[in-house]
Amino acid sequence: MPAWLPLAAAAHAFAGSAVVDGAHLRDDARAADWASDGRTYSEWHYSPLREIDASSVQRLGLAWSLDLDTLDAVSTPLAVDGVLYVAAGLSVVHAIDAASGRLLWRYDPEVAKVAGVKLRYGHGVRGLAFWKGRLYVGTKDGRLIALNAADGSLAWSVVTTEPGDDRTISGAPRVFNGKVVIGNRGTEEGRLGRGFLTCYDADTGRQLWRFWTVPGNPADGFEHDALAMAARTWTGQWWKYKGGGAAWNAITYDPDFNRIYFGTGNAAPYNWKIRSPGGGDNLFTASILALDADTGAYAWHYQTVPGDAWDFDTAMDLQLATLAIDGAPRKVLLHAPKNGFFYVIDRANGKVLSAEKFARVTWAERIDLATGRPVEAPNIRFENGPSTFWPGPIGAHAWQPMSFSPRTGLVYIPRMEMPGYFSDRGIDPKTWQPIPGAFNTGLESSAGEPPEDWGTSALVAWDPVRQRPAWKVDHPGMWNGGTLALGGDLVFQGLGDGTFNAYSATSGARLWSFGAGAAVIAAPISYLAGGRQQITVLAGPHPSSAGAFGAVVAKFGWDYRRHPRRVLTFVLDGKAALPATPAPGVAQPLDDPALVLDAATEEAGRRVYAPYCTGCHGIGAISGGSAPDLRASAVALDRAGFRAAVRGALESRGMPRFDELNDEAIESIRLYVRARARAAIAGARAPGAAPPRPVPGGAG
Ligand code: CA
Repeated sequence: MPAWLPLAAAAHAFAGSAVVDGAHLRDDARAADWASDGRTYSEWHYSPLREIDASSVQRLGLAWSLDLDTLDAVSTPLAVDGVLYVAAGLSVVHAIDAASGRLLWRYDPEVAKVAGVKLRYGHGVRGLAFWKGRLYVGTKDGRLIALNAADGSLAWSVVTTEPGDDRTISGAPRVFNGKVVIGNRGTEEGRLGRGFLTCYDADTGRQLWRFWTVPGNPADGFEHDALAMAARTWTGQWWKYKGGGAAWNAITYDPDFNRIYFGTGNAAPYNWKIRSPGGGDNLFTASILALDADTGAYAWHYQTVPGDAWDFDTAMDLQLATLAIDGAPRKVLLHAPKNGFFYVIDRANGKVLSAEKFARVTWAERIDLATGRPVEAPNIRFENGPSTFWPGPIGAHAWQPMSFSPRTGLVYIPRMEMPGYFSDRGIDPKTWQPIPGAFNTGLESSAGEPPEDWGTSALVAWDPVRQRPAWKVDHPGMWNGGTLALGGDLVFQGLGDGTFNAYSATSGARLWSFGAGAAVIAAPISYLAGGRQQITVLAGPHPSSAGAFGAVVAKFGWDYRRHPRRVLTFVLDGKAALPATPAPGVAQPLDDPALVLDAATEEAGRRVYAPYCTGCHGIGAISGGSAPDLRASAVALDRAGFRAAVRGALESRGMPRFDELNDEAIESIRLYVRARARAAIAGARAPGAAPPRPVPGGAG
């Protein structure tokens, strides 16, 4: 090859030289690639690369950007041999030359055509897996797809959910020993769900094993022995409500023990009086499970939240580390779930070695290390009326990845603090039934909107040995990006305010910041392209979950229609400019002065809007960015046009259809939106001082 070829071209010529296999993925020191969601089996979200460090980061600039035609941009990319792989929105996969930003291929699984009711639920995709030249991605409609990385052609596809269920996939698969595992979500929606994790042959897609996380009806027999143990922790006829325990996010392969660890979600429905009226721990919800990686056989479990009553998913990162505990090295898991405790857990047997609060926590006083159980606060289970608790159902830490630096020994947690308010007034546990196609918790839905200034957040550097913060940086508002730690002793994090920032890993001092032109909720990665260290992150309007918070995130001004979903790549001395990007600005509601609106009309509409529309269009019809702000939408000014949209006219663009809503119900929603628009123009807030109803937490 001629010596004058730019390094980028040289790197491209060698594309395909790295074999991503078990040896590659277990090598924490190998720095060139980012070939798994957390980079290696350790799930650290850490790159040993050191070209970008505290002394050079001021020179960091944009190498290139690429705006995507997708619904959201919250996913963690992969980088192998100088090629970036980015899945975004409805699992549209892109291969991009990492040095130039040139799109190499794009694969669209056309989810909107087949998802049906599932189009209503949860996030777009959050990540990919790579193994021996193939990419693996899940879809909202429930497929696990294998693509040939060279050209994006389909290798195989399997449906990993059950026919007619409400399960969707947003999390990243993991690959080990020639096997690929994937879970799913859907324990708050429709008919609710019963969690499972499934393992397939990475070459062929043949199913190897499936691990169910909660017991079904004992009369049908149990799929594995551990479920007989689990069934003793449930009461009543729990199987009628499926039970929850979704494996929707964290999965970690541990080569030291040849085990899989995964965290399960909340118990379903949230209201324990419905699903398990006699109480009980409700295994294996809100639990970490360890399975034999080859057979899927149960090894151990640890339940962070017995008898969950607060949507405390424990599906957040499970990082592998070896820490000096009481002077001896211990192989441990590091885990900071929604419930606000930071856990250090012995990988050999699942025993909790330590657990301390990394955020404001009121639901429990402490974790009793002798039993491993939380010491709950009195009256916290809304036994005798409404309960306000910290953290709320959004969690002190949601799905946005935390990172661990083996150099500093610190874990960098994207922390959030916002209370929850659960009440089951007016709910009869004996007769309650989920509404098909809607958000279902078994709790009362209240009228209040969260005030704009609700919710705080911080980047917390946590010392897992001493179980205390090393430093903390407060951020504006709430709902930010995952973190990346570098060998150059930097931590990168994007924020909901649209900045992408670098901090000193040892002090928290902010050393660099970039305006991305949209919220940065995804986690960054770092890798080599053309022999140089690069950093890539996705940006876009707030996705589902955060979008439902309405004013809390809407104040940042990222608009579903106006703002881009984009890939940003940075390099030292990068000089590229962002394309022209609209300035942030809050939605401008439109009024129809001819409409006669009153409080009764508004309340009737809210009752239809709340279970069907809140998850995307936001509490109080204030969109946080995951769907258009209906108050400012011309479509919602027109009765016939609005009805057509709700009936499926915009389905190919991601707006689900609601065939079960009759004309009267649809018009009722529209009048609610019109009333909220008029109120916003008048500068008024929603009636009722009640705290907000719970919204979909991190499980989205
Ligand atoms: Ca959940």
